[in-house]
Amino acid sequence: MIVIDGKKASDEILSEIKIQIEHLSASGKRIPRLVAILVGDNPASKAYVGAKMKACEKTGMLSDVIQLPASISEQDLKQHIQQLNEDETTDGFIVQLPLPAQINENEVIKLIHPSKDVDGFHPENLGKMLLGQDCFIPATPYGITKLIEHYQVPTQGKHVVVVGRSNIVGTPMSVLMSRNQTFANATVTLCHSKTDDISKYTLQADIIIVAIGKAHYLKANMVKPGAVVIDVGINRITNVDGTSKLTGDADYEALKNVCSMMTPVPGGVGPMTIAGLLLNTLKAYHAEK
Ligand code: NDP
Repeated sequence: MIVIDGKKASDEILSEIKIQIEHLSASGKRIPRLVAILVGDNPASKAYVGAKMKACEKTGMLSDVIQLPASISEQDLKQHIQQLNEDETTDGFIVQLPLPAQINENEVIKLIHPSKDVDGFHPENLGKMLLGQDCFIPATPYGITKLIEHYQVPTQGKHVVVVGRSNIVGTPMSVLMSRNQTFANATVTLCHSKTDDISKYTLQADIIIVAIGKAHYLKANMVKPGAVVIDVGINRITNVDGTSKLTGDADYEALKNVCSMMTPVPGGVGPMTIAGLLLNTLKAYHAEK
């Protein structure tokens, strides 16, 4: 089985971004800047934002975190968003999800200016993606498309089964895989928690993209020999000795003997999400303002 190494592919993209930023710097141009709004102290969110900032550092991209208390009101959070919308030195920004219960995520995302929405969650960007127009593609699905291209996984005419239909991963992924563009041209089935007998679909799949947040959900008896598995899930599980580790939605050890190619967790889709985010930020920088 070929391990689809997202860390390596992401490092290559980050190196290319670094070269572009060095050129900008050498010619005295302004450097692109990404800002992350982090609300509260959810350890996973902190770790994700930390990894995004570290990637910026690696490339020379400017970055900042606006840390806000978990108790912040929706109104106050919206004020921070307005400031970033208006700040000419900020090319793109993200609001790390999930947000505390008192805040309506949809209302907050709606307020991010689409030209700075480098996570690609704004309805305008999602709508444009659906129509195949130029837009910011959500960072995780974007990173996955880059990974599939990087490893030259054949997609045209193939059957892709996406498990999970969230607005940030599964649904955009299903749209991108079915597009009639240079990439994709696959036939897509989108499964979710109400799908009867998911194995019936996954067993027919040439490519399975699983994004549900359930550790080791995708088992060896659910996958056709030779299929490609892209594991988006990030789950923290506790070992018998009390330590914990990250694991995906697929049973990697069992699937190693079944798949032709597969992403590990960690080191698969996660680093590509970050690469997707930085590519979007660079795109925002270059867009006509
Ligand atoms: P959500 O919780 O928003 O969505 C989960 C989806 O999975 C829903 O559509 C749900 O169905 C479906 N689902 C849940 N249980 C089952 C089941 N037993 N069988 C079939 N479908 C099921 O999750 P996200 O999309 O945000 O994230 C999914 C996973 O990916 C998580 O582990 C998350 O941490 C990870 N992730 C990783 C990223 C990365 O960079 N690697 C980035 C983003 C997420 P229904 O709609 O019917 O409820």
